[in-house]
Amino acid sequence: KTFRELGVIDSLCEACDSLGYSTPTPIQAHCIPVALQGRDLIGLAETGSGKTAAFTIPLLQALMDNPQQYHSLILAPTRELAQQISQTVKALGAFISVRCALLIGGVDMIPQAIALAKKPHVIVATPGRLLDHLENTKGFSLRHLKYLVLDEADRLLDLDFGPILDKLLRLLPSRKTYLFSATISSKVESLQRASLSNPAKISV
Ligand code: AMP
Repeated sequence: KTFRELGVIDSLCEACDSLGYSTPTPIQAHCIPVALQGRDLIGLAETGSGKTAAFTIPLLQALMDNPQQYHSLILAPTRELAQQISQTVKALGAFISVRCALLIGGVDMIPQAIALAKKPHVIVATPGRLLDHLENTKGFSLRHLKYLVLDEADRLLDLDFGPILDKLLRLLPSRKTYLFSATISSKVESLQRASLSNPAKISV
């Protein structure tokens, strides 16, 4: 099937073309139609499977239906992964003027606070730095959040982000959630029980 046949809107199909994504990968072919129906998702997939576009395309399509600031939050375990995801969000969102802010540790908070003041649609973050902004950046809150992605959930939990994730989840409203992980450990299972509602499980 093509991206269009999976239900992807034209402007996002064009972005896929421009990136050389001619055919959906298996994780994309399975996740995108289910996500577009409004289900929560658990995706069992490794890096290299095309998982980033599998979760980014549905949330950008939902954003087009309901454009608003702080629409989606993507959490990743490392700065490098968060940077890659934000590149993909910008590339896939190129035809729909998506504003994306990257909040990662190890760099100055002020430019990130300035980026937040511009009311981005999508935030890609590592957990510690996101919590720091929620606690310290005036005017920033995620109370209108519509979509949460937990990418590489097994590594998020291995890196001992557990207590920070608990704190973050308590600050978020009810929303759609996509959890991606290479493995489902008991810690991932309890995160999944706490943060997803009746998810579709997809493994490829
Ligand atoms: P990911 O698993 O999301 O890290 O993606 C792995 C690589 O596959 C990235 O370099 C993407 O640009 C690329 N990619 C993602 N989807 C497709 C696709 N449908 N066709 C070709 N390449 C893709």
